[in-house]
Amino acid sequence: MAIWETLDAEFAALDAAGLRRRRRTISERHGAEVVVDDRRAVNFCANDYLGLADHPALVDAAIAGAQRWGMGAGASHLVSGHFSAHDAAERKLANFVGCDAALLFSTGYMVNSGIAAALVGRGDAVFADRLNHASLVDGALLSRAELRRYPHGDVAALEQMLAESTAPRKLILTDSVFSMDGDIAPLPALFELAERFDAWLVVDDAHGFGVLGPQGRGALQHYGIRSPRVLYIGTLGKAAGVYGAFVAGDTQVVAWLMQKARTYIFTTGAPPLVAETICAAVDLIEAGDERRAQVAQLIARLSSQLRHPERLMASTTPIQPVLVGDNEAALTLAARLLEEGLWVPAIRPPTVPAGTARLRISLSAAHTTAQVDALAAAINRHLAV
Ligand code: PMP
Repeated sequence: MAIWETLDAEFAALDAAGLRRRRRTISERHGAEVVVDDRRAVNFCANDYLGLADHPALVDAAIAGAQRWGMGAGASHLVSGHFSAHDAAERKLANFVGCDAALLFSTGYMVNSGIAAALVGRGDAVFADRLNHASLVDGALLSRAELRRYPHGDVAALEQMLAESTAPRKLILTDSVFSMDGDIAPLPALFELAERFDAWLVVDDAHGFGVLGPQGRGALQHYGIRSPRVLYIGTLGKAAGVYGAFVAGDTQVVAWLMQKARTYIFTTGAPPLVAETICAAVDLIEAGDERRAQVAQLIARLSSQLRHPERLMASTTPIQPVLVGDNEAALTLAARLLEEGLWVPAIRPPTVPAGTARLRISLSAAHTTAQVDALAAAINRHLAV
């Protein structure tokens, strides 16, 4: 059997387990209403929490940015791919989240896979919440430090691991809002442990930036945490409606990341027009209290209308999962909803633990109450049979 023919069996195994992933194609977008695979549907999959992704101000900023800068950055940041637009975005982002400095990366995946290795290495230890995003796990593995994963949100277990550790340098790694459960990490307690055990604390606020905290300034501002040992990661492809990500913190550590983070150094800079668009997005986020109030109202409405409380997870964020359990059952439910014009992703292992396949509903200020009511009614109807 030739090497490529081994994939036949691999695909057959994926299919048998109901785990083959597929992608759908959007051919039209009007806010949360899309045409997907030639069918009109309301999109409950996107992380566009504030409904900014097709905002005219972002489109205008992108056009103006393209006219001023053209398209590509042409090189990596440390060669000749760094423009004043990137500088402006970094200053604006740092200031917005209450940090001294920020470094713009091309994606959140690249921030997360790149920064642990800049801070710790062989012989050191990384302590990570078991439900952290895959990109943080990859970053921890790339650092070659020992990776200790603590049970989800279990501060006591983490405390014990830290107390037992003899590693010279320690790093605690956590999502702020967990991407598949929607719950929020106990950040004040994690920060207290970081202080007590002299560890770095890296907070991935991919799903909190723009949503949590005053004016959407994110998880650190929400809890009033600020320290040279804390690094804040925000992604810009979700609530900000653009693309990209940044890490923010104390001036010195951010300067160090510029020297050492391989996923910053060895890649082409994001197009400067993206940086221009990011600046416009921060203004919209800052002025977005009404949008945040609209999402909060939709979150309350959905959870009060869903009739299977045992299937809901303890989430107060726009990520509202509905537990199904079985992979095939989750896929079937998602397919039925899509037939009714309600597009919700079925999330299966390995993204979530085996036996916890779920619908992952993402709410957005782009949704209307009528759309959320229709979704709740449809889920209630399908789960009743
Ligand atoms: N962190 C978390 C918690 C995420 O959910 C994601 C994206 N799904 C990322 C990081 C990666 O960000 P990006 O999409 O910008 O690569």
